[in-house]
Amino acid sequence: MTPPDPLPARLERLPALLAQSAALHRHLCPRQVLGARAGLLAGAWLELEFPRTDKRVLVFVETDGCFADGVSVASGCWLGRRTMRLVDHGKVAATFVDTRTGRAVRIAPRPDLRARVREGRPEGQKRWDAYMAAYRTWPDEEVFTVQPVRLTLDLAALVSVPGVRAVCGACGEEIINGREVTGPGGPLCRDCAGERYWEAG
Ligand SMILES: [Zn+2]
Ligand SMILES: [Zn+2]
Repeated sequence: MTPPDPLPARLERLPALLAQSAALHRHLCPRQVLGARAGLLAGAWLELEFPRTDKRVLVFVETDGCFADGVSVASGCWLGRRTMRLVDHGKVAATFVDTRTGRAVRIAPRPDLRARVREGRPEGQKRWDAYMAAYRTWPDEEVFTVQPVRLTLDLAALVSVPGVRAVCGACGEEIINGREVTGPGGPLCRDCAGERYWEAG
């Protein structure tokens, strides 16, 4: 696989995406830039028009925060649209999946990226400014590693059937999107099945 379209055409779209991301955040920061660029690059690798207005692409972001917002504005994939999932491994990385073909690509900053930016910055330039400048302008191959991957989870089960509803036999709360587990007496929510992340205060 080779990236199909040249870098400059994609980067022309970066300022508008960053304006959108910064408006969500009330600031612009290096991780938003990385997220937006990762999204643009993913669109090129998957040979799909980004940002998506449909649900064809599913993104797994590996950390929350600023990076995820950059990914969202560039890819059109959002938690609120069920086209983004958080796999909170605390890594600035994301995997973009074309759910129609199963093609997937994982994009992460090169491990030595920040060190190279710091070393290469002009005398007196602040780190933050150096990161911003580099992330906006450096070629993709200087910024990212790109790896075609295959998902090891069940995509159909993950996406599930929108609109499916069940009622927990223990607490009576509604469970949507097929997230119930089957207990001896019928469906249970994950809280009642023992995966509760809270306790009564
Ligand atoms: Zn930020
Ligand atoms: Zn329950």
